[in-house]
Order: sequence, then structure tokens, then C-alpha cells
Amino acid sequence: MKINYDIVIIGGGMVGAALADTLGNSSLKVALLDRAPPAAPDEHYDQRVSAITLASQSVFENIGAWDGMVRRRVSPVREMQVWSEGGSGSIHFNAAEIGEPCLAWIVENRVIQAALIERLHQFTNIHYLCPVEIADIALADNGAAVTLKDGRILNAKLLVGADGADSAVRRAAGIETQSLNLHQKGIVATVTTERPHEATARQVFLTTGPLAFLPLDEPHTCSIVWSADNARADQLLALDDAAFLSELEQAFGDALGKIKTVSPRAGFPLALSHAKAYTAPHLALVGDAAHTVHPLAGQGVNLGFLDAATLAEVLLDAAANQKDIGAHAVLRRYERWRKGDNIAMVSVTGGFRYLFSNDWPVLSQLRNWGLSLTDAATPVKNLIMRRASGLEGDLPKLARRAL
Ligand SMILES: Cc1cc2nc3c(=O)[nH]c(=O)nc-3n(C[C@H](O)[C@H](O)[C@H](O)COP(=O)(O)OP(=O)(O)OC[C@H]3O[C@@H](n4cnc5c(N)ncnc54)[C@H](O)[C@@H]3O)c2cc1C
Repeated sequence: MKINYDIVIIGGGMVGAALADTLGNSSLKVALLDRAPPAAPDEHYDQRVSAITLASQSVFENIGAWDGMVRRRVSPVREMQVWSEGGSGSIHFNAAEIGEPCLAWIVENRVIQAALIERLHQFTNIHYLCPVEIADIALADNGAAVTLKDGRILNAKLLVGADGADSAVRRAAGIETQSLNLHQKGIVATVTTERPHEATARQVFLTTGPLAFLPLDEPHTCSIVWSADNARADQLLALDDAAFLSELEQAFGDALGKIKTVSPRAGFPLALSHAKAYTAPHLALVGDAAHTVHPLAGQGVNLGFLDAATLAEVLLDAAANQKDIGAHAVLRRYERWRKGDNIAMVSVTGGFRYLFSNDWPVLSQLRNWGLSLTDAATPVKNLIMRRASGLEGDLPKLARRAL
């Protein structure tokens, strides 16, 4: 059976689902495909959380998905403290200094997905096909065709790859990536602490990699992301809870008092990557399919949400002007708009990792000075805060406030 769509999106993760929502109630007929539905949120915190910028919050508000997240569970980050291991340098950010109620939100990935998918069920022009197994992806001069294992063939004017870092869509299009395996893993877990976090995110740059404590809605509970070289990460993952907690306390210090409990841990390989192109005729890549960054800046999925909002704006403009949404000239506008920001973030997170993971005395002195000087320079600090919160930059309409 053949079904014709304007757009087929492969990958219903956070970015693919957000893109489908941005196209809700439009004239475009859209299919969103995933091989498995996301796990539903429950009373236990998801090990995977994302620091969500204010720009991403605006996207969620504008597509009508934010209320679904707030109703489930979100936690504000009002302050942020960053320091380097054994050094004198530190920096402190406070949302009040830029006149905002918070700098970011910590939201469990399952909560984000549940709210985005709940929202797309309210649009009649979006079809959520999940679970499906894809047998073949074909790109031709006049469009794309996705063949499912059950025999259905989905034809589209535009195929979007939102299928993550190991994107089959990207491979089918023959698009190469530049990538750097960091030989590191990010260990994630939920911990409880003796003292309350007071809505403050904390990150220490250890010479072995950054360790972040992200505040959750329960005042004594944080989600941690601990990045370390593979050997060290595997060793930490293999420890029993008591030994892990002892290592964690030693690495983090006593900013939150005793670290009392830790949930099961999981480790994710970290890599920097960037696709050489985001588009081809009848094809676009968004989110991790196009780029991956180091989690130390909490920006990865936020870049993906901006990709989604930008691509939607470009496509809806083209459709309103009776242009072919699969034409490469149309899609290139999206690519030009997003590439600079994304490359900058891949490089910045790579550079930070290098600066802070090196224990040469000169670098260690520089990072201490750098943190302290930046902390003392109010305009620079405010600029960093506004930029990291997504309040600056060439934002698509959906990422701006008050539409
Ligand atoms: C430890 C860690 C911490 C992080 N913390 C943050 C943070 O605080 N803030 C932040 O912004 N980012 C963070 N990130 C990055 C963020 O998690 C990713 O950028 C984000 O998950 C990418 O979303 P995505 O939808 O593009 O891809 P994915 O999450 O990889 O989703 C891809 C989807 O496509 C589906 N799929 C794949 N192939 C197929 C196929 N062939 N057929 C059907 N379906 C398919 C998958 O099932 C999946 O649902 C972190 C990453 C790590 C590793």
C-alpha cells in the first residue's frame, strides 16, 4: 500500500517529536515514525534529564507542549556555580542578574517526550506511526520513499532524519560526518544529598572531566552527569553504591553535604560530530543526526529544538508561497541558518573539555584566572548567561517569546 505525505520524519525522539508538533495544524501532511514508543514517566526520576534553555521553553510554549511538561515535573535552575578542581577559580551565575526568574529548566527526557507526543495526538495532519520497522529508504529526483517491513510505502516530498547520532537517513543520503570520538563516557544517575540544592546547578571541572549536579523538583535530589575517560568511567560504573558515593563525594566536595543515595547508573559514550551537510534535495537532518556536542554545556538537544523550529519556519514559509518544500534551494536556507551556531557549539564544548581536562600548570592557572576574571566582569557574565539561556542569537520565530 502506498501513502503520500508531504513530510516523513524518521525518529520520534525529543527533536523529531518537537518538529512534528511545530508542523501541527498546518496544511502539510506529516508522518512521524519511530521503532519504539518512549518509556512513560512515573514516580521515579528518569536517569536521563536535559537542561532546557529559555529558548527551548519558548518553543514548547508556542507549540502548546510546555503545560504538559509542567503538569508532569520540571525544575527551575535559578543559579549556577562552576569551579575547577583544586583551583581557586570559580564563577557564579544568578538569573536575577539578567532579570529572569530562572536560567534554565531541568526536565526528564521521558517527560519531554510524553508531553510532545501527547500534543501531536491533537493534530489531525500529523500521523504518529510507532512502532514501525523500516525496510528501505530511497531518495529520488522527485521525492523520497520509505518502505516499512509490513509492506507499506510512504512517499514524501521531504524526508527528515531525526534518527539520532547513528542516523540511517544520513547514511542513506551518503552524507559524511566529521567526528571526534572523545573516548569518554557520561555517567548519569539520580542522587540525594544532605543539604538542599536551592535550585542551583553546580559543575566542577575535574582534570578527568566535568561533573554536574542538576537540581530536580525534590529539594534534596539532583541528577548527575559525570564525564570521564572510558577506563575511569567503566571503573566508576562497576563500583558498588557505597564505593561510588565515596568517589563522588571526593570529586564533588561538600557543597551539598553528604551524598546519601544513588540510583542505578548508566554510561553513554561521548563524541563530537558534525554532518558535512544538513540537507540534500528532498532531505534534511535535525538534532543529533546532524550534530553531537559534549554534554558539559547542556546544549545538545537545545540545538536540536532550534533546528526543528527553524526548519518548520522555512518549510511553512515555502508552503505559504507555493514553493516545493523538498527543493534544495528552500532547504539550504535552513542549513545556512543553523550551521554556524551548531558548529560553534561543537567547537566550544570540545575546547572547554580540552582546557579543563589538562593539568599543565599554565593551563590550570589560565582557567583559574579565566573563571575569576569572568566572574568579576558583569557585562561579560551577563552576555554568557543570556547566550547560554538562548535569549540571544538569530532565533526562529517559535523560539522567541510572546508570539
Ligand atoms: C549524558 C548525556 C547528557 C546530556 N545532557 C543534555 C542536556 O542537559 N541538555 C541538552 O540539551 N542535551 C543533553 N544531551 C544531549 C541530548 O541527549 C541529545 O542531543 C538528544 O537526545 C538528541 O535527541 P534526538 O531526538 O536528536 O536524537 P535521539 O534522542 O537519539 O532520538 C532518535 C530517535 O530516532 C529513533 N530511531 C533511530 N533510528 C530509527 C529507525 N531506523 N527507525 C525508526 N526510528 C529510529 C530512536 O528510536 C529515537 O527515538 C545529553 C547527552 C548525554 C549523552
